[in-house]
Amino acid sequence: MQYYSTNQESPAVSFQEALMRGLAPDGGLYMPATIPSIKYPASSITRFHDVASMIAKEFIDIPEKALKKIIDDAFNPDAFPVGTGFPAPLVKLDDNLYILELFHGPTFSFKDFGARFMARVMEYYVSKKPFVSAQDKQKKLSIIVATSGDTGSAVAEAFHGLHNSNVFVLYPSKRISPLQEKQIATLGGNVTALEVEGDFDDCQRVAKQALADEELREKMMLSSANSINIGRLIPQSFYYAWASIYRRATSIDFIVPSGNFGNLTGALIAKRMGFPIGEIVAAVNKNYGQEKAVQTLSSAMDVAQPSNQARIKELGAEGVQSIRVSEEETRAAIRTAYKKYNYIADPHTAVGMAAEAIYRRRTSIDGPIVVVATAHPAKFPAIVEKEIGKKVPVPVSLQKVMQKEKKSIIIAPEYRALKSALLQKAGA
Ligand SMILES: *Cc1c(COP(=O)(O)O)cnc(C)c1O
Repeated sequence: MQYYSTNQESPAVSFQEALMRGLAPDGGLYMPATIPSIKYPASSITRFHDVASMIAKEFIDIPEKALKKIIDDAFNPDAFPVGTGFPAPLVKLDDNLYILELFHGPTFSFKDFGARFMARVMEYYVSKKPFVSAQDKQKKLSIIVATSGDTGSAVAEAFHGLHNSNVFVLYPSKRISPLQEKQIATLGGNVTALEVEGDFDDCQRVAKQALADEELREKMMLSSANSINIGRLIPQSFYYAWASIYRRATSIDFIVPSGNFGNLTGALIAKRMGFPIGEIVAAVNKNYGQEKAVQTLSSAMDVAQPSNQARIKELGAEGVQSIRVSEEETRAAIRTAYKKYNYIADPHTAVGMAAEAIYRRRTSIDGPIVVVATAHPAKFPAIVEKEIGKKVPVPVSLQKVMQKEKKSIIIAPEYRALKSALLQKAGA
């Protein structure tokens, strides 16, 4: 499969090149040349991993056996302990309302699906190294990622312990939650936490400078791992395909709590492949479509202009419905979920649940709807406990992370500081 740039000004490339580049040279996003229709014998599919393999082999030119191994490892039961072989449980709240829980991975947000898959595919290519010069064979892949929270922890965890990669996570000092910081800065090994004395924009600026630095690229094999990478997008179609056929029913609607619309793009791709998916609705907070984003309760969705807009247009879904949810509606949805279903929803999932109620009223649909749950409520205890008046149970692995000692390298918000930290780690 070839991948083209949404800006149409760069040549089409292989999956491997699209993955390693991240952004196309013309600034566009990579998209698969075609979206294949998948004929699935529903009766033979019993595992999430089978659906994932069926989709992945259409998009990614890696031998099927190796691809299966990547999938088994990315979504293994140790990393996704809830329900063996079933990393994305579909929880029934009543006959008409299901929650697709995507937060059972190691960092407790849906981003683990994309990040873990992408890390292993990159690792595969680096171990083969057919695309680099002889001199590059000595080098490990260095992943640079700037984060305002969730992305950094998912990417760091995804690469942690892999043999051919080092990860550098840049985060703004004192501007991410203590839990997010621990999730990034306690891993050690091949993960370096760079605590930048500045804001998220500083992190992003210096990370971009590094990726564009030819002199540095001579010494290190660099790549990024941000949410626009095609390698994170494709695995985000797996769980929609799986959930839609798991129920073995006619098509079902999905409500997706959205920021950059990457998760929702995964749903659109699954639908285009022919899986029984009905409407796909974006649940957004008050930032969507604004000039500038401000902080809300659903902070991972604080995006004014979603970066996947161009891909959605390519998929012919410009008119994808969005439902805006206010802060008060978000709080009310946390209370309602708890009172009505004894279900504890995190603030992002709550935006989805509030949107579901609005959508149902607006369309007077009376069939089942799936709301996607993007984070574990224990990641946002203060907000959730205030509404439900009870402690949120904290998974053991999260408790352990909180007790660990953080190890970060503090750097000034200047490119010089980043460059010397990178070179030091590379031993160059
Ligand atoms: C990243 C994130 C989102 C938004 O996902 P997009 O793909 O950017 O739309 C929603 N919820 C949580 C918890 C997240 O971490």
